[in-house]
Amino acid sequence: MDTKKLGFDSKLIHSGDFEDAMGSAVTPIYQTSTFAFRNAKHGADLFAGREKGFIYTRIGNPTIEALENKLAELENGCGGIALASGMAAVTTAYMAFLASGDHIICTSAVYGPSRGVLDSHFAKFGVEASFIDTSKLEEIERSIKPNTKVLYLETPTNPTIELTDIKKASELAHKHGIIVVVDNTFCSPYLQRPLDLGADVALHSLTKFINGHADIVGGALVTKDPEIYQKLRKTMVYMGGNMDPHQAYMVIRGVKTLSLRIDRAQESSVIVAEFLENHPKVEWVKYPGLKSHPQFDLAQEQMDGPGAMISFGLKGGYDAGVTLMNNVKLALLAVSLGGVETLIQHPASMTHAGLPKEAREEADITDGLVRFAVGIENVEDIIADIEQALEKI
Ligand SMILES: *Cc1c(COP(=O)(O)O)cnc(C)c1O
Repeated sequence: MDTKKLGFDSKLIHSGDFEDAMGSAVTPIYQTSTFAFRNAKHGADLFAGREKGFIYTRIGNPTIEALENKLAELENGCGGIALASGMAAVTTAYMAFLASGDHIICTSAVYGPSRGVLDSHFAKFGVEASFIDTSKLEEIERSIKPNTKVLYLETPTNPTIELTDIKKASELAHKHGIIVVVDNTFCSPYLQRPLDLGADVALHSLTKFINGHADIVGGALVTKDPEIYQKLRKTMVYMGGNMDPHQAYMVIRGVKTLSLRIDRAQESSVIVAEFLENHPKVEWVKYPGLKSHPQFDLAQEQMDGPGAMISFGLKGGYDAGVTLMNNVKLALLAVSLGGVETLIQHPASMTHAGLPKEAREEADITDGLVRFAVGIENVEDIIADIEQALEKI
């Protein structure tokens, strides 16, 4: 069956499937590190690429390949690469495209370690990085240098929920021969397809919405350019950030319900965001589905839905944030997002506590900011929980 012609929900279920000898209804786990050759010629043909097949799991494995093919179809790419974690995907992309003397432009509010690894490791190898507000096209233009090789975008950002126009940013970058990588973790291909909008690589932490059950860590890279695909594949094989077959099986299982899970979480998020916007103890709410979001129009254009991540600010600042964290009962006090369970987090006392207050505020991470990852519980229960915790402030 040509799964490429199917609708998105059908692709979630069927893309990447292969027929195995036993007629297994679900993709089986090939939990093996290596594959036996039929004879010397077979081995030689596989290594020379004259025949398709499997050699060694770091290079390729049927279960992992099934996931890679599924993700490639979901993102409308030509090939996908599954990796051990979202960060393995990030560092593999950096490794593939950057060399000593090169420059990368990066959304300033990207996932912390995506920025941190540029400062802590890639700087050592002579890679220069500029962290800018990519939501402003003129800032991207101003930051481009002759040695700029990569534009690395994350949209919407976390926890500031700011959007970058992928189409316009990609057009600008391509005029200068710059490769565009988009971290699409917050949306998943169900809500946003960066390759369709002109980006070269879509990057994922599969840990979040795609696997969706908070039980594995994983990452992926998808591209529509066969040359870029080969470059990324080779880098992954050399750097060794490959996924494990069991991990791939879990993601294949989790991703099947992606649209159902996001539909539910998103429906609830709109209700939760409106509830928060009308609450006297809440100063502001940032959610792409609210008319009050400064980039509401861009969200409508570029995303197929506002997603399930909400940021809001408490009038009571730091102490109010801590009180809220200590009083929620249903929502889990945890980092991460995109799982079936509702998670809540207070960056000033948790993820960003290591940053001085001034640095936090420069990044718009105010003391009263709360990040809310809405799950798929009954929305009445989610609201009742947050309401009783807000009362304690
Ligand atoms: C979690 C996350 C990552 C890193 O992924 P891991 O699977 O934790 O390595 C990268 N980008 C975004 C936006 C994330 O939320």
